[in-house]
Amino acid sequence: MEWGIINKDNFKSIYDVPIKRWDPLSTVSIRAKGFGIQGERIRYYGHYSYLSPIRGKRPKGFKTIEKKIELHECTEKILNEVKDVFMAVTEGKPIYNDNGKRIGDGFTLIITEDEKRRDAPFLETPHRIKKVPDSCKALTLINRYPSMARIIDPDIYIYIVDNLPSHLKLARGINLVSLSRNFYPSLCFNLIPEEVLAGILISMKEAILYCVQEAIERDYYDIPVSPFFNIGSKVGGSQPRIHGQVYIDLNMDGHGSRLEGYLEAFKEMGDNCHLCETTHGDTDRIILNSKYWTFYTTGSPVRNYHIRFHPNEHIRRFSQLNINQIHDLAKSLKIIFMALDDIEIDKNRNILFNCCPFGYDADFHMFGDIIPHEIIGGAEMADDMRVARKLPHIAAAEIRKAISP
Ligand SMILES: [Zn+2]
Repeated sequence: MEWGIINKDNFKSIYDVPIKRWDPLSTVSIRAKGFGIQGERIRYYGHYSYLSPIRGKRPKGFKTIEKKIELHECTEKILNEVKDVFMAVTEGKPIYNDNGKRIGDGFTLIITEDEKRRDAPFLETPHRIKKVPDSCKALTLINRYPSMARIIDPDIYIYIVDNLPSHLKLARGINLVSLSRNFYPSLCFNLIPEEVLAGILISMKEAILYCVQEAIERDYYDIPVSPFFNIGSKVGGSQPRIHGQVYIDLNMDGHGSRLEGYLEAFKEMGDNCHLCETTHGDTDRIILNSKYWTFYTTGSPVRNYHIRFHPNEHIRRFSQLNINQIHDLAKSLKIIFMALDDIEIDKNRNILFNCCPFGYDADFHMFGDIIPHEIIGGAEMADDMRVARKLPHIAAAEIRKAISP
């Protein structure tokens, strides 16, 4: 089921396919017609899980690089020492490690090379690409180990629908990976050039637009899109190279409860958008106010040093960011990550982008979260609640001081 392809050659049992399961104890059908959701189909919001056996098969390349970073810290020496699975893709040939073991075969489906469109998002045959030119900054690929099925043989689809228990459904969608063309370790933000980081965001944006456009042509609609970065093995990153991911959910069955909260909150704000109007606690929680972005420590952190950021312009989606906003975002993220490094915050961090789904006619101001890794308590797992020690305005002061000592 690699690359989200289910066909007669690889299909064995209905429990080998990626599944989406809504939790019956926290799922309700959507009443909010106000989001422009149309049609007869029943939609939900609540808690759901993707269950995907193939996710467990992805190669893990983090241990060696984490050891090397410990040895050399984040010095340029690391850049030439590491071989990873993505090198087989960018070089267009199999790559072997120092012990002669093959770590990547080079087969891929490449959606964008920088902003240039390459393979069609619903293409069925992975292939080797020619060596990617050194001038290229970033690529976006179809994730080889996805949580959702992208292409399904029609006969097998009917068989799965007929045989899966009714509370389970085949998870459909596109999972993307955006990575730098050359190797830069995600845990060493100081080594990642600003234009490479911007390149990843640009490639990601163009790939989202390409995939959604092709999905709409195939009659998919109301599409939640979640771009994110898992930086470090403790927060879900399985590869040491800096990379972002995008989940494009094509199940057309609604959205998660957190997104429901955001959608309802923006609806209630109406014309008085909180992000457009607030000063974030009389500015003492603001960390960085650039021309295009505002970064601040959120007053209700889910972890200590939880940072929120939003474009100063009221736009709904990541894919609406223009080139100036993207370059400024790359620059600002780098400044903030290096400041967090300076005050010794865990280098394992998530960056999440919260966006209005495609097809929803909802008011929304896109925003992001930077969440450093921490061990989380039990009561917190059971509820939508978190306990943090650090007062947000003090965290903000510490980060501001690290940015401009
Ligand atoms: Zn706004």
